[in-house]
Amino acid sequence: MKQTLERLTGKGSVVKENIRLAPYTTMKVGGEADYFVEVKTSVALERAVKAVRELNLPYFLLGHGANIVIGDMGFRGVVIRNIADLVSFNENLVTAESGATMYPDLIELTAVQSLSGLEHYVGIPSTVGGALWQNLHFLSPAPARERTMFIEEVLEYADLLTEENKTERVGVDYFEFGYDQSILHHRDDIVLSATFRLAKADHARIQRIMKENLAWRALRHPNLKTEPSVGSIFKKIQGIGAGRLIDECGLKGASYGGMTVSHRHANIIVNLGNGTAADLQALVKYVQQEVAAQTGYHLETEIEFVGSFCTPTNGAPVFLPRPEGLVTAEELATHQSS
Ligand SMILES: Cc1cc2nc3c(=O)[nH]c(=O)nc-3n(C[C@H](O)[C@H](O)[C@H](O)COP(=O)(O)OP(=O)(O)OC[C@H]3O[C@@H](n4cnc5c(N)ncnc54)[C@H](O)[C@@H]3O)c2cc1C
Repeated sequence: MKQTLERLTGKGSVVKENIRLAPYTTMKVGGEADYFVEVKTSVALERAVKAVRELNLPYFLLGHGANIVIGDMGFRGVVIRNIADLVSFNENLVTAESGATMYPDLIELTAVQSLSGLEHYVGIPSTVGGALWQNLHFLSPAPARERTMFIEEVLEYADLLTEENKTERVGVDYFEFGYDQSILHHRDDIVLSATFRLAKADHARIQRIMKENLAWRALRHPNLKTEPSVGSIFKKIQGIGAGRLIDECGLKGASYGGMTVSHRHANIIVNLGNGTAADLQALVKYVQQEVAAQTGYHLETEIEFVGSFCTPTNGAPVFLPRPEGLVTAEELATHQSS
């Protein structure tokens, strides 16, 4: 099968067998993929997807692995890891292959050109393809931060390999974007590249927004380099906040094995280094049950579970103490206003 895949995918792809997937995700969990195809150009991506479709093999397209949890038993089939990252400019339009990293790569490149529109998404781990899948979002600039901004606002068009195996250029309406939503959740279309329409802006202003957003995130989110996570685990509950509910139920620090509810942000589960997908699943279930019992709200996960999973870790959770010296954003705000 490896040789067949190599023949069909051709240049620009590297085919490997039995590759552990954990290092390719931000949560750092996940067993082996039977086959792992790394694609370096959008042409190679198109060929690889066509090949696995032709061979009728189960496949999964992996970007930065920042919104998924892969099971401890891995993935039976082919994982295509997209690192196609060519970027080109045409006045205010920037076109990026879908494996390009949003931050720092694409955002830094556009900021250097004094092009505004993508700077709001600094610090979010994502490829361009993942950003369209999710309709990447963040709050509008400080100090107002009065609304959520979405990547759809600057998308001009995208080139796809459709579910029907056709290459097609589509406009923003095609995606039926919503909050954490796009047509990509419902159709097996592959984004090959995306073109964004940006606006010429004051370089210093773009830099200020980037700096403020990075500082905002650093205060509220565990540091991804030292505390692997998948960002928010549960979907937003309008006007209430999933994180607030979890915090009010006293669940910060709740842990199974190597997975713990962050003391900095209650809607984020952190891998302490030896966490497994089975630990994560047990913790997710425990948090859901506790929040439902104490508040009546049902928390829904917003992440995607991929591949084969073992039975979740069982037993009761342990509670880890709050790290010494930790100051949360809420505590800082209360302190500053008093
Ligand atoms: C610490 C942290 C903070 C975060 N903060 C935010 C935030 O502020 N705002 C926000 O919106 N999100 C946030 N997220 C979530 C995450 O960054 C986004 O969902 C991101 O867009 C995922 O992109 P990815 O490349 O990692 O996709 P992956 O996780 O690799 O894949 C996600 C899905 O997208 C599909 N996909 C990937 N590439 C393509 C493609 N080319 N064509 C079609 N489908 C594709 C995959 O098949 C999969 O189904 C955060 C995550 C973390 C870990």
